[in-house]
Amino acid sequence: MKHHKYLIVGGGMTADSAIRSIRKIDNSGSIALFCDESDPPYDRPPLSKSLWTGKPFSSIWRSPNGLDVDMHLGKKVVALDTSKKTVTDDAGNSCSYEKLLLATGGAVRRLPDANGNVIYFRTAGDYRKLRALCEHGSDFVVIGGGFIGSEVAAALAMKDKRVTMIFPSNGIGSRVYPPSLVAFLNSYYEVKGVKLLESESVKSVRTAGNKTIVTTGKGIEISADGVVAGLGIEPNTVLAEQAGLRVDNGIVVDEMLRTSNPDIYAAGDVANFYSAALDKRMRVEHEDNANVMGEMAGRNMAGQSDIYSHQPYFYSDLFDLGYEAVGELDSTLDIVEDWKEPFRKGVIYYLRDGRVRGVLLWNTWGQVAAATQLIAEKKQHSSSTLQGKISD
Ligand code: NAP
Repeated sequence: MKHHKYLIVGGGMTADSAIRSIRKIDNSGSIALFCDESDPPYDRPPLSKSLWTGKPFSSIWRSPNGLDVDMHLGKKVVALDTSKKTVTDDAGNSCSYEKLLLATGGAVRRLPDANGNVIYFRTAGDYRKLRALCEHGSDFVVIGGGFIGSEVAAALAMKDKRVTMIFPSNGIGSRVYPPSLVAFLNSYYEVKGVKLLESESVKSVRTAGNKTIVTTGKGIEISADGVVAGLGIEPNTVLAEQAGLRVDNGIVVDEMLRTSNPDIYAAGDVANFYSAALDKRMRVEHEDNANVMGEMAGRNMAGQSDIYSHQPYFYSDLFDLGYEAVGELDSTLDIVEDWKEPFRKGVIYYLRDGRVRGVLLWNTWGQVAAATQLIAEKKQHSSSTLQGKISD
């Protein structure tokens, strides 16, 4: 059985960041990576953003070439034995480890009654499938009004496709943005030619010749050349659960990103960590968290004792609108809107009990550090103290 000093399960941005930081400290310890995707690590955000506006597909790769990594692509780890310190993949191959990182990310939620023609958009493979359909197809259905739904619908519309969005809530990004901005986004997407079926569900998806027919809960039938869904993800915790690690909305890690087993780390979308700035445990499913947390997990696996105190930010591009954001963006919190130009440029603050928990920097750039600082200060604020507080 092959032995590796560092074993990484998962092949996303977190895994790649961990490998790079291990190598900065230990340039000879053996590293192996197992990933059920057949693609090597890549940047995920461009798949629903910049690849649709001219960036080449080849720009996504972040393959750890030259870092001397034993890559096992297309290999799913199905068993973890913490007493023997071994993992086994779906081809029956086992290897042992000294330090293990679980960077297993999340699995897409699926519709209960839909056949294989739905692209549950998450991977480079999904992007390739959608691009191939775009070659000849003109009509697309996008199910879900969250991050994937809003970005992919905008991307398709910018490629002059006819797009129908279906989602259960009353507007795009309704869990994240305040109602006024949701209403603006709804009308903005409609002006851009996207048809919205809000407060609607999907009853069935079936194939008819080379078309896919989506039937909604209210009985509307839509014929499409492609159907994309972004219904959220569930953290991939099966391996951790089987191994008896502590799991609670993700794999629970301490401030050094160790799981309940000190030789096993977890990071990225799957890790449930304590945020000192927000005084709560959380999981974050965004790029910056994947990169920074992966990097720190790698460092700690290689012998450092760094504390994860990073407050991750995230960003999105919707047609020509864009933003960066930090903290808890939850539309049920108390919200203070500070628009320089309504819905085009401004800052939105999310508060609980008078404390800023999140900041949305709408077309407001270079202010992530200021927003992070504002949250970390934990001071009392109100509408009057926040007007003009942050601007670019
Ligand atoms: P998401 O942002 O959680 O959105 C899920 C959407 O699916 C919501 O609109 C939800 O509606 C809807 N939904 C749930 N069940 C449904 C059903 N049965 N039928 C129709 N709609 C349904 O998740 P996502 O868009 O799939 O994104 C996946 C992950 O990738 C997330 O973790 C996200 O953070 C990440 N991501 C991030 C970015 C970024 O940072 N810019 C971009 C892309 C993806 P309700 O809200 O009404 O329940």
